[in-house]
Amino acid sequence: MSDCIFCKIAQKEIPSTVVYEDEQVVAFRDLQPQAPEHVLVIPKKHVESVLGLQQEDKDLAAHILVDVLPEIAKQLGVDASGFRLVVNTGKDGQQTVKHLHFHLLGGRSMQWPPG
Ligand code: AMP
Repeated sequence: MSDCIFCKIAQKEIPSTVVYEDEQVVAFRDLQPQAPEHVLVIPKKHVESVLGLQQEDKDLAAHILVDVLPEIAKQLGVDASGFRLVVNTGKDGQQTVKHLHFHLLGGRSMQWPPG
């Protein structure tokens, strides 16, 4: 999508600090980190939110969960200590960027419940 900031990041039209990339996925550091390690993992394909995933996206969703997120957690050194995955969705979920993204937050102990 031409006006989507994360599509522009995926296409390298906007700079970001990339920590992982493959044909389908890119992961980059959040501009306003909420933890010592705060990475956003996105499909390169524009999907508006987790509710925008279609049947044809099953392999992509599985790839992110099974392959990419564990790999990045290992790379960041938070696989043993633990981390939090957040997928803000829609208005009440406070989703501000309408391109599916997984926040991977780690490097400190997290609070629960969230505010
Ligand atoms: P959300 O509120 O779940 O939609 O999260 C959007 C996230 O994108 C926020 O944590 C922002 O700090 C982050 N963000 C927005 N623009 C950029 C950017 N250009 N590079 C990196 N992170 C960004």
